[in-house]
Amino acid sequence: MTGHWWSERIGPGYSHGYHIQRLYEERTPYQHLLIFNNPQWGKCLALDGIVQLTQGDEYIYHEMMVYVPMAAASLPLRRVLIIGGGDGGTLREVLKHPQVEEVVMVELDSSVVTACRKYIPELCPQWKDPRFELVIGDGAAFLRDKREKGEGFDLILLDSTDPVGPAVVLFESPFHQDLHACLNQGGMVVRQAGLPFTMPDLMPFLTCRFREFFPWVGVYRVPVPTYGEEMAFVAASKDGSSMARPRSELKGRFYNSEVHSASFALPSSWLALLEGYRDNGVVPVEAPF
Ligand code: SAM
Repeated sequence: MTGHWWSERIGPGYSHGYHIQRLYEERTPYQHLLIFNNPQWGKCLALDGIVQLTQGDEYIYHEMMVYVPMAAASLPLRRVLIIGGGDGGTLREVLKHPQVEEVVMVELDSSVVTACRKYIPELCPQWKDPRFELVIGDGAAFLRDKREKGEGFDLILLDSTDPVGPAVVLFESPFHQDLHACLNQGGMVVRQAGLPFTMPDLMPFLTCRFREFFPWVGVYRVPVPTYGEEMAFVAASKDGSSMARPRSELKGRFYNSEVHSASFALPSSWLALLEGYRDNGVVPVEAPF
């Protein structure tokens, strides 16, 4: 088997090992980008040494980010904003829903889009869908501009990297103010909120930020095998309606109505993180290990 072993640092003295065949590597102006092939998981994308997705299990993350709000919505979610998501997986899932009339993706790093389109084209065959617009830039600046212009979205999906480097701004309070202002009435927002075992403060921190602005906030579980533990997603609705139960029947490779409802049943350890968190408003940035 040609290639070599490579490891992803997860926590202090803890890493995941992959035997890789490197397909593409670049030091972009924002991050280190690596695309590799692995016998078990297929093609994988890593940014700054953190595996973002693998062909083998990315559908779980991307379906759960999109199908939960789509199924829970009482009004059709027609105008969608994706911040981050340059790999195209979230975009692919959004475009599957016929009520969607417009999708804007704001991805900071054009190299992520270019490399994923070239080396993992299977992730998103619909880059040329007429409903889709790609904006290369900072998601926080984009949202601030939209707020100043009085423009809004029905669904905002925050598919960013963890709070490191250029992504930190997407976790700060001014961004959450703009997020609330740019959500239309009946609108919903979902964001990835990290891994509660190895980043215990992120999910409670983001839940506090959402609770500052939204009348309904929920946390749900997303079991992505290659992340090594269940990921938390934090969701909110502008009109206070709950997203914890589907209002329409959807089915994906992973998602279905029973999975939707069950994902909002949180383990006591997550509830303890939420109850015990002392919010000081400071973004919990991962300590180097
Ligand atoms: N879906 C994957 C996951 O599981 O996390 C990965 C998401 S995607 C690869 C994360 C993207 O967020 C990266 O392409 C990164 O360039 C982008 N990003 C980071 N900070 C950003 C910002 N301030 N504005 C827009 N995009 C940003």
